[in-house]
Amino acid sequence: MLHIENLNLVYDHPPVHAVKDVSMTMPTGEIVAILGESGSGKSSLLRAVAGLEPSTGSVLIDGKDVANVPVHQRNIGMVFQDAQLFPHRNVARNIAYGLEIQGLPKDARSERVAEMLDLIGLAGYEDRPISTLSGGQAQRVALARTLAPRPELVLLDEPLSALDRILRTRLSQDLREILTAVDATALYVTHDREEAFTVADRIAVMDGGALVQIGDAGELTSNPASDVVLRLLT
Ligand code: ADP
Ligand code: MG
Repeated sequence: MLHIENLNLVYDHPPVHAVKDVSMTMPTGEIVAILGESGSGKSSLLRAVAGLEPSTGSVLIDGKDVANVPVHQRNIGMVFQDAQLFPHRNVARNIAYGLEIQGLPKDARSERVAEMLDLIGLAGYEDRPISTLSGGQAQRVALARTLAPRPELVLLDEPLSALDRILRTRLSQDLREILTAVDATALYVTHDREEAFTVADRIAVMDGGALVQIGDAGELTSNPASDVVLRLLT
């Protein structure tokens, strides 16, 4: 489903080789956590996959090389640390945003919005103003907005980092259930081991821009490829 080969991202100002020769393959429906310390290149990897930064190497989504496909046509959904909801749209119209762009008729939009609200445990919240949502609710709505148009690939960049520990633990379980329920193929960036364990099928560890090891939690803890992996996983 997602195949990345020798992906490199070099920033110009200042010159930083932020993603170094990253290669990986994910089947449809898999959730991979990108785990690494701050500055290890996690966000840069996501931005390169999304096409938000120019990169070299290849990114294949469903077998198609997306090198020349502009960002908005890649059918990729993104969720960030701060929900970035549209403040002047209510909950329903936030979730419906991508569906409006797709040109989905109003009835079908409402139906899909209700379905998504059900999925995120906020049934009946259609008319709520964004300003009345808690941080956790806002992140759920952001996820629903991203998933509503059925993206082929979902990229999440530390979506729970702004929340407190208790909420983070609970929401990471919910996130896994939600992503699994829609069979999303997802890259989930985090610097938090517990979150990676909870959300992901496999964990990819990044260090200095390189992907140093990928595997399930058991493989990584029993056979860490480097000190960094050991430190991040235990
Ligand atoms: P992470 O998400 O793991 O914290 P980033 O991908 O944000 O790491 O950053 C990786 C490296 O690239 C860091 O050294 C960072 O300083 C650098 N970097 C990030 N964005 C830019 C940019 N726009 N221009 C130059 N360097 C950048
Ligand atoms: Mg980052």
